[in-house]
Amino acid sequence: MSDYYEILGVERDASSEEIKKAYRKLAVKYHPDKNQGDKGSEEKFKELSHAYEILSRPEKRAQYDQFGDAAFQYGSGGAGGFHDPFDIFREVFSSSGGFGDIFGDIFGFNSGGRRREQRGRDLEYSIKLDFLDAARGLEKEVKVRRYEKCSDCDGRGAKPGTVPSTCVQCGGTGQIRQASGFFSIARACNQCGGTGSIIKDPCVGCGGTGRKEITRKLKIKIPAGVDNRIRIRLTGEGEAGSQGGAAGDLYVAITIKEHEKFERRGYDVYSLEMVSYAQLVFGNEMEAPSVYGEAKLVIPAGTSSGHVFRMKGNGIKRLDGHGNGDHFVKVETAIPKNLSAKQKKLLKEFESTFEETGKPGVKKNKTGIADKLKQALKG
Ligand SMILES: [Zn+2]
Ligand SMILES: [Zn+2]
Repeated sequence: MSDYYEILGVERDASSEEIKKAYRKLAVKYHPDKNQGDKGSEEKFKELSHAYEILSRPEKRAQYDQFGDAAFQYGSGGAGGFHDPFDIFREVFSSSGGFGDIFGDIFGFNSGGRRREQRGRDLEYSIKLDFLDAARGLEKEVKVRRYEKCSDCDGRGAKPGTVPSTCVQCGGTGQIRQASGFFSIARACNQCGGTGSIIKDPCVGCGGTGRKEITRKLKIKIPAGVDNRIRIRLTGEGEAGSQGGAAGDLYVAITIKEHEKFERRGYDVYSLEMVSYAQLVFGNEMEAPSVYGEAKLVIPAGTSSGHVFRMKGNGIKRLDGHGNGDHFVKVETAIPKNLSAKQKKLLKEFESTFEETGKPGVKKNKTGIADKLKQALKG
């Protein structure tokens, strides 16, 4: 029966801040990196992490206060396993910001010296999307080739069942100090490559590197409304870190194919619909293609060719979630080039009906463009 309060040296009514402070102080003191090869310290370090894990989580602390550590012995109630002590350590120090620097300060490593954990590389992947897929969003499966943590040795590099031994040359610190005049310069140990340990029996799966190159299928959720030059970041989907370092991120860069009908400007969509003269004269209710399928477009009687209609909210969905852009539809009528004799006759007849009333939107003026130009030059 262990008393977690006693292990951390705090009172039973200690605040979470006091518990954290106590853990930080003791965990640094007993960290295995600082006490290479000392089994007692390692045990103590584990114990501290367990105690902190229980007392820093309100539900677990309440369970512990009520039932003692019996509550955590049998794996019942979801409280069974403990986290890796190093994960707990990392959790506490990384949440206080600037873990790398603090880590360095505590253990006296300078920036050029040993750094055990190395974050995995970020990866970038580019995909080309169809216009409509980008507008509507989709889930896409991509194949990414990346280094992942070796599952055989859990990233440790040592053959399963064996443990890496401490490097004799540097005593496990990963650094060699050399006196040079008044100074002492620290270099990464060449025997162990700065890791502080030597793997005698390398893992067969990864050759001792702790990582394996794998082609991984990933499902990527692409939100509706993505545009060219947008990069989607998938945290932790980059390459595995080494020596327990965090994985890098995967960036998915988007490019969008052009669409034969739609043009996108920001979150608005533009398109052109060809209609007949009669449709514009008499008015018409028609279906106009939009990003989301056919949309109803009402053309009032007497609409001019070139008029632009706005289909409000039918544009692209905004990535910030604030609704959609609009869809602007321009209607135009094509002028026929080769009319039949009958069509010409009818059109002339139709035209002549405007002689008295004048044509809508056109000035009744007998003077042609050439005459106007002449007059302008004279004046
Ligand atoms: Zn391995
Ligand atoms: Zn070494």
